[in-house]
Amino acid sequence: MSAKLPHGITPPAFIGGQKKLLIGGQWVPALSGKTLDTVNPATGEVIAQLAQGEKADIDRAVAAARKAFHGEWSQWTPHDRHRLLVRIADLVEKHFDELALIETLDMGAPLARTRSLKNWASQAIHFYASQTAAGGVVTAPNSLPGRYDTYKIKAPVGVVGGIIPWNAPLISQWWILGPTLATGCTAVLKPAEDASLTALRMAELLLEAGLPPGVVNVVTGYGHEAGQALAEHHGVDRVAFTGSPETGRRIVQASTGNLKRVSLELGGKSPDVVFADADMDIAVPGAAMAVFSNTGQICAAGTRVLVQRKVHDEFVERLKTYSRELKVGNGLDPQVNLGPVVSSKQLDRILHYVNEGARDGAQLACGGQRLGGDLAGGYFIEPTVFTGVNNDMTIAREEIFGPVAAVIPFDDIEDALRIANDTPYGLAGGVWTTHLATAHRMARGIQAGTIWVNCYGLLDPQVGFGGYKLSGYGWKGGAEHVDSYLYQKAVYMNLG
Ligand code: NDP
Repeated sequence: MSAKLPHGITPPAFIGGQKKLLIGGQWVPALSGKTLDTVNPATGEVIAQLAQGEKADIDRAVAAARKAFHGEWSQWTPHDRHRLLVRIADLVEKHFDELALIETLDMGAPLARTRSLKNWASQAIHFYASQTAAGGVVTAPNSLPGRYDTYKIKAPVGVVGGIIPWNAPLISQWWILGPTLATGCTAVLKPAEDASLTALRMAELLLEAGLPPGVVNVVTGYGHEAGQALAEHHGVDRVAFTGSPETGRRIVQASTGNLKRVSLELGGKSPDVVFADADMDIAVPGAAMAVFSNTGQICAAGTRVLVQRKVHDEFVERLKTYSRELKVGNGLDPQVNLGPVVSSKQLDRILHYVNEGARDGAQLACGGQRLGGDLAGGYFIEPTVFTGVNNDMTIAREEIFGPVAAVIPFDDIEDALRIANDTPYGLAGGVWTTHLATAHRMARGIQAGTIWVNCYGLLDPQVGFGGYKLSGYGWKGGAEHVDSYLYQKAVYMNLG
């Protein structure tokens, strides 16, 4: 790592060196001693070595989490946990510029984007702080003959296995840490091999805030080793997973040994529907960034852009112009709109889909090329627009997880709904219209967990997020998320 980064940015002290696992409050190497490199996708440069945790390390981490679950942590009151979360929120806010820079160097998103997550992170941690009284005793009226008091006790489920992807680690880790700490559960977190650094730095902040040893453990390593061992582990009571449907299926299969609870947030192929009556000045940039934000590496990205035929050609021209004006480059540059994709593997996958689109007969309206020159060392690709797409084509059916828009024309609202819902996924959908009834009909009609009307991608931790169909199950955010980290038991008390 060079002493100074581009644009005069000083690298955080945390970048570089050999990272360890956090187990039982101690930073330890993997038992095997193995490490794996982690790379800055903007340059291809190795920026740190991660400990390559395996099954034996997961065993140690789960044992530490179990011990902590029954230890001092179990005596903490909701108020104690509330205060802890508020201290963590303060530390996260204080160190957010550093966290954002680590995230940018680790997974490539522009600094402007990673910095903008500060509000979300702060609100999420404060929201979960507000939920610390969600456990405990809840009275439940009954209609039994005789005199009985009935109530329910809500108690933390136990040890949570959290498995998260690389596309937005700062968000994904709080979808697990928040309900874990609010309810008095404990956790073993397995971050993605391509972007583990903010989870490790966050763990340092948790300890600094006074988190008891073992309440949160972090095991870096490969998915098929550490991740699989965590999903299978009989000492884990609940798995929270975000990632691809293929891995989601493996997680469900791995969970059957002890029938642990599982929640899955998987991918999407979300429709973003532009009606002829839309205000094009907001619909064009809105629909473009619904696909291209985070270089397309967002599960809820509006990758199928359905455009009413009457305005199709005008919309496509404006979308092309907008896409060509986006600046792609190193996320440290404040002018950059789109950073690299996370890895060479992901870049190859996207280029493969671009070839598939052309092979299936879609027209490449713009983009589609890997960027060279100064950017040749990183994993950069132009924002890409395909037109003439038919909803049966591979690029309209499979999640690409890159900056690739598939524009599909439609005739009327029924046609739009038919195409929008003709997908195995159901994570999100967007609607651009000035007609109130159209907005409401589409909001009701699209089979997906979140609908944005004349906006896209907003995410509030109190409201939450979840999927229909292949996009998974288990709502994240809001009170029901916290509830899914609690067991409940009914008590029938004979009053004589
Ligand atoms: P994966 O589903 O493979 O990875 C997500 C997480 O699961 C990572 O921590 C990964 O570890 C881990 N993992 C991998 N295999 C196993 C396993 N057998 N058991 C337990 N955990 C495992 O997603 P990828 O990162 O490989 O991305 C591939 C595709 O997934 C993307 O192109 C996109 O379509 C989708 N995706 C969806 C996301 C979403 O937010 N819905 C986010 C990211 C990806 P490791 O990193 O070491 O492989």
